[in-house]
Amino acid sequence: MSIRPWRDIQRRVSRKIRVGSVEVGGDAPISVQTMTNTLTSDAKATIEQVLACAEAGADIVRVSCPDEASTKAFREICRESPVPLVADIHFHYKRAIEAAEAGAACLRINPGNIGAPERVREVIRAAKDHGCSIRIGVNAGSLEKHLLEKYAEPCPEAMIESGLDHIRILEDNDFHEFKISVKASDVFLAAAAYQGLADVTDAPIHLGVTEAGGYVTGSIKSAIGLGNLLWMGIGDTLRVSLSADPVEEVKIGFEILKSLGLRHRGVNIISCPSCARQGFDVIATVAELEKRLEHIRTPMSLSIIGCVVNGPGEALMTDIGFTGGGAGSGMVYLAGRQDHKMGNERMIDHIVELVEKRAAEIEAAQAVAMKAAE
Ligand code: SF4
Repeated sequence: MSIRPWRDIQRRVSRKIRVGSVEVGGDAPISVQTMTNTLTSDAKATIEQVLACAEAGADIVRVSCPDEASTKAFREICRESPVPLVADIHFHYKRAIEAAEAGAACLRINPGNIGAPERVREVIRAAKDHGCSIRIGVNAGSLEKHLLEKYAEPCPEAMIESGLDHIRILEDNDFHEFKISVKASDVFLAAAAYQGLADVTDAPIHLGVTEAGGYVTGSIKSAIGLGNLLWMGIGDTLRVSLSADPVEEVKIGFEILKSLGLRHRGVNIISCPSCARQGFDVIATVAELEKRLEHIRTPMSLSIIGCVVNGPGEALMTDIGFTGGGAGSGMVYLAGRQDHKMGNERMIDHIVELVEKRAAEIEAAQAVAMKAAE
């Protein structure tokens, strides 16, 4: 029995597949993906972006391969990437084969769009030969003509039928290393399609609200759409689509998972909105701490609260806390307990030091535990 049952999320049981070194589905952690927006043929720029995304925590990165120059550069990009890469292919089966040969961990391609059965077989053979999985990516904006005629407009049923048609082609070719997405820019449509899909397949599900919008709008839409599905236990990997830097997509993806307790990475800052009672400038302090603590990967919680109204209560549940007080100083809490006072002017440096020290302690303890387990 869980200590806090209201926090429990029962994940849908899905099959586990591999995207290179990353497991997707089953009991694997929900992975965070993003996609590069550089010209893939510009290997140097794309590698730089892949590295930045990986540094921000991306587990998997997708790269478009629209032409032969891209699949050529893709080989070098794969070689330099610290994380598995998905080659994004639309229609052209030769690009899919080239990408598989170049080192793709996964192909994002819809088998129903490849064309003649022989071409489908060639792509699947290349995926098998090179250990690639496949993501079927159904999109409400590009549904097959016959489904639009049948259903009159994009709707959950049409999207699910499209997905099942693509699944059938892969299974008929004895290919089972696939995951599937049914994305839409409309949150209601995407959520309904994903819920229906979750009932009819045990394939791992890749979540996304597509073309969600700019940084703020898209993050909110994604948090509602993806958050709702994840809360229901649906979703094995996700991408937040933003008209913004891919690194921001990774950060928002992690924040959604962190909010639901599904992944933990880095410092989770709990802070108050501030008001006239604040003993220090909460907003500026949190902004500065977010920047200075970006390098911390060890999961940890930090409360930065303006005054004693909520400070001690929040500090009780965090690893490190600071609560504003009077006369230009506040109280530092360690593991929920009042520990010492600290002047506001030194507070940011001091908290950064405390967090780094605590992260080092946690990492050392983990290393000891791992050694003992060996
Ligand atoms: S914790 Fe204090 S400073 Fe922060 S919003 Fe509440 S009352 Fe205001």
